[in-house]
Amino acid sequence: MKKKHEFTPEQLRFFMQAALQEARQALEEEEVPVGAVLVASGQIIARGHNMSERLHDATAHAEMIALTAGSEYLGSKYLNDCTLFVTLEPCAMCAAASAWARVGGLVFGASDPKKGFRQLGGSALLHPKTRLTSGILAGESQELLQAFFNSKRRDNGKPRPSKEEEDIAD
Ligand SMILES: [Zn+2]
Repeated sequence: MKKKHEFTPEQLRFFMQAALQEARQALEEEEVPVGAVLVASGQIIARGHNMSERLHDATAHAEMIALTAGSEYLGSKYLNDCTLFVTLEPCAMCAAASAWARVGGLVFGASDPKKGFRQLGGSALLHPKTRLTSGILAGESQELLQAFFNSKRRDNGKPRPSKEEEDIAD
């Protein structure tokens, strides 16, 4: 491998596939399908997928779970040697969390034009040393999100409207 946060195109796809696997797990659990993995020295050291519904926690995004698990694994609040892979552009909260953890690299798949951090603060939210890469396997990430939205739309015929669905659909 080259420098710590440089990956070959094959490596980028390989680790994003692992993040997509996490997103599929979220979809099975009827969560918004977003997945993340944290990579250090060419190894996945932590994984996470969105668990907002299961944990009744609006902050339980894939990135937050992967960052917490990675810090626990390494026994360090700082993750300079790690790269966070996530299937969807992080929100402002997760981008800022990655800055607090000082992640060395951030790689995301699909863009999120409504809630992505680039609309809400942009690179000012990231740590100045975090290396940003975007658009890796974006189509596969979007397909999963679309599958989720479609299934929610089908469910909308049933008398169980929730605030969460409105939030996602807007
Ligand atoms: Zn987030």
